[in-house]
Amino acid sequence: MGEFTPEQIVALSSMVSPDRFSVGQSNRELHVHDVSPHYGELPAGIIWPITTEEVAEILAWCYQQEIPVTPWGAATSTEGNPVPTRGGLVLDLMQMNRILAIHAEDLQVDVQPGVLRKELNRQVGRYGLFFPPDPGADATIGGMIANNASGVQTIKYGATKDYVMRLIVVLPQGDVIHTGCRAYKSSSGYDLTRLFVGSEGTLGIVTEATLRLTGIPAHHLAATVTFQDLQSACQAVVAMKASGLDPAALELLPPKLIELMNREKNLNLPQVPSLFCEFHGISKGVLQEIESLAQELCEGCGATGFRSGVEEGERTDLWRARHEAWETIHRAYPGKETLIVDAAVPISRYPEMILFSQDLLDDFGSIGYIFGHAGDGNLHLVLVGDPKNQEEWSRLEEINERIVKRAVELGGTCTGEHGVGIGKRKFMALEHGESYELMRRIKNLIDPKGLMNPDKIF
Ligand SMILES: Cc1cc2nc3c(=O)[nH]c(=O)nc-3n(C[C@H](O)[C@H](O)[C@H](O)COP(=O)(O)OP(=O)(O)OC[C@H]3O[C@@H](n4cnc5c(N)ncnc54)[C@H](O)[C@@H]3O)c2cc1C
Repeated sequence: MGEFTPEQIVALSSMVSPDRFSVGQSNRELHVHDVSPHYGELPAGIIWPITTEEVAEILAWCYQQEIPVTPWGAATSTEGNPVPTRGGLVLDLMQMNRILAIHAEDLQVDVQPGVLRKELNRQVGRYGLFFPPDPGADATIGGMIANNASGVQTIKYGATKDYVMRLIVVLPQGDVIHTGCRAYKSSSGYDLTRLFVGSEGTLGIVTEATLRLTGIPAHHLAATVTFQDLQSACQAVVAMKASGLDPAALELLPPKLIELMNREKNLNLPQVPSLFCEFHGISKGVLQEIESLAQELCEGCGATGFRSGVEEGERTDLWRARHEAWETIHRAYPGKETLIVDAAVPISRYPEMILFSQDLLDDFGSIGYIFGHAGDGNLHLVLVGDPKNQEEWSRLEEINERIVKRAVELGGTCTGEHGVGIGKRKFMALEHGESYELMRRIKNLIDPKGLMNPDKIF
């Protein structure tokens, strides 16, 4: 749908205060793309609700009017997840940004979906607590729940799904439901909370969440480890995971990306295959023991250098550079776009997956940077090209497809953390077979008119 009718504008304007509904061109243009190259159809308007009741009224009315609704967080998705594809209404949740209650004694927090994760960690940090899932971007909690986001610390702490205890969700017809509970565990029926986690706004709008928190670790140890080749670095990842060392981060960085990071971020890292590692512990003594075992294991896999005890400032710089890897690559190629491969495989197959991807990149002669959350078996390959240059872009798509196909053959997935959105839809049948059909039936049951974030996942 292109534009709202005057009657529709009057109706929507009456549901929120005047400053929280817009059909202005600039607002519409700001709500049509995320960080991916996927562009959708300009929405007819944007609405910024602040309560569950407002969301319920808006959805019930849109359902009756058959208006597509696309939820919107910080728009840091990489697969077109919040991009409206059929115009309609964008429901921007950024103003539902209140931390409702911190239950420090239960290690829990109640939040609205527009709370940003860094702000959440600033607030709960005063109680010695933190919310560990850490996508590089400063995403909203609603967007993280909808994409089941994770990040560099997932190897130790888990993904967003592991931290969502309770949700309030507004369903497409405007009904409000509560899922889950505040107890640490429950065997009570179907796990509806997990159904909404990762559903990318296709089943309803999360308007409140209770999140589990954990204690801020007393001590950190960061180490950079260098290797002669990528294979040895990957083997060290498997060895450290299997040893019970419980690393808090194990990131793989190839020389090409390190070269770019050195140049753009003023770092001085050796330009060889490397691992960035981090360990968390209750005492310096425990970390010292971990450090010597980690060094022994890495050297056993052929490490050529092991530098630990990286001091706080440098550690922050290293992690910032790692978090900003995608932006650094993007900036280095003005006028180009990126296609991000996000496959994940069982950890034992990670080394062969990395080599397979490197060989493909070399064979195709395309520009690309391989790195990833090695400890999770999650491979990122950021491919660089121009979507308008069909020949160049189809080569990148071909690389993406071959990697995903291989990952699925190895028992893995097309997306470890970024979600399906528009970009990964084509792999869903391959990965899920018959259960993709069951997902579709669930979608049709909850959203029979197909109005909630249409064209995503399916
Ligand atoms: C530099 C960079 C690094 C990144 N690194 C990582 C990483 O390491 N790990 C990782 O997992 N991701 C990463 N991402 C991707 C992104 O940050 C995450 O997917 C994040 O969860 C998106 O949150 P958002 O607030 O931006 O949501 P959006 O992009 O706005 O929306 C995400 C999805 O959630 C839906 N949605 C939003 N709010 C709600 C709601 N309240 N109810 C229902 N549906 C809703 C939207 O419709 C959309 O489908 C990175 C992105 C960038 C730009």
